[in-house]
Amino acid sequence: MLKGILNVAHDLLEDSIENGEFVIDATCGNGNDTLFLSKVTGDDGHVLAFDIQDQAIKNTKQLLKENSQNNVTFIQDSHANISDYVATEQQIGGAIFNLGYLPRSDKSIITKGKSTKTAINTILHHLKKGGLIVVVVYHGHDGGKEEKEALLKYVSSLEQKAFTVLRHGFVNQQNDPPFILAIQKRR
Ligand code: SAH
Repeated sequence: MLKGILNVAHDLLEDSIENGEFVIDATCGNGNDTLFLSKVTGDDGHVLAFDIQDQAIKNTKQLLKENSQNNVTFIQDSHANISDYVATEQQIGGAIFNLGYLPRSDKSIITKGKSTKTAINTILHHLKKGGLIVVVVYHGHDGGKEEKEALLKYVSSLEQKAFTVLRHGFVNQQNDPPFILAIQKRR
């Protein structure tokens, strides 16, 4: 069977992140991606987990605690400010974004094109050669279409010699299914 979007997102990162690397979950939400990244990078690695919502940081902390994972720093701030938390010379092994709103929570707190682009741009500067930023684009909610359009425009404009951009998604699903944008740094 074809794998679902979230499994593909994880497969892409698992294939490109090495144990011991420094990685970013830009929208930690309920913590599933943070937990995954924490396991992939291991005791010698480190995860920075961002979310603007207190509830998301709490949920993620709890999940990581239950799984006895200790290599995560939790940051309640916009991912637009990632540069405030990453040293100039720090290399980033990979990153993930899950866009939209926190499931079962306030649907008015959503990721937005401008801040998402700022965050991606910052991470691209630090990303290792061959590294990936995987963005799971949810766009069925209010405000989702604007963010999707802004992101597609932005990633389409990335220089082909420097970056490879993949779009992966199902084409016959109802209700605006999420899709993946994966940006790989080539040099
Ligand atoms: N739509 C996904 C989950 C997305 S969670 C699903 O259905 O599984 C998205 C998270 O991004 C939310 O927890 C929200 O608080 C967070 N968020 C929104 N804007 C943000 C920003 N500027 N910086 C960091 N996190 C943000």
